[in-house]
Amino acid sequence: MPLPELTVPRHSMKIPSDGRNITYRPFLVKEEKILHVAMESESVEAMLLATEQVINNCIEEDLDLRKIPMFDIEYMLTQIRSKSIGEVVKPVTTCSSCGEQQEVNMDISQATIVGETKDDSGNTIKINDSIGVVMSYPTMDSMTRGLLRSNSNGQDSMMEDLIYTMVDNMKYIYDADEVYNCGDCKEEELVKFVDSLTKEQFYKIADFFNEIPKLSLEKSHKCSKCGAEDKVVVEGLQNFFG
Ligand SMILES: [Zn+2]
Repeated sequence: MPLPELTVPRHSMKIPSDGRNITYRPFLVKEEKILHVAMESESVEAMLLATEQVINNCIEEDLDLRKIPMFDIEYMLTQIRSKSIGEVVKPVTTCSSCGEQQEVNMDISQATIVGETKDDSGNTIKINDSIGVVMSYPTMDSMTRGLLRSNSNGQDSMMEDLIYTMVDNMKYIYDADEVYNCGDCKEEELVKFVDSLTKEQFYKIADFFNEIPKLSLEKSHKCSKCGAEDKVVVEGLQNFFG
């Protein structure tokens, strides 16, 4: 016997990096299940796959989620989730004046992307007078490449991690004559290029990663014990989903 079908409400949001409007429905139990299983596994790869699947289920537009910036993905997941399971997270904050620990109720639908989304010219890093690199924001694709590599290599040093993170997120390298598409280059060639940088040039590129826009939720909070005002900031997707 066919059971009644439920209709779900629709909402819209703007993708932070490019302002495109998309339409979505809230998570349903089936999506919550997918995310829950992934979180239990404690595998970043499983989390990425689950995130891709649930966003794809919930949005009406056909987007290649693997190729858009991770901060867009985090924002989309937060918005979709805030319309279904509940809109509140309760981080514990420590008062900076008296040290009292308190739970703060924060509405995750208020999370925004802080930082400016730049285009290729904004993400260009000059290495010297003629050579430069154009970086792209980390995506599911680039993160998955990194995860696969560290699964097969075992533990890398922080330095190696950073080198590979650079390699995975370089879009173009140019010199006075030519623009080289990093997608067409072999990984060894890109690593060799990074290896040949001076320390100063290397950290110039590394700085790019400190300036990537990020998901952030802020609220001012008044300590119930001493009355001092604090600003509570929650950043990073893992802190939105306990
Ligand atoms: Zn206090």
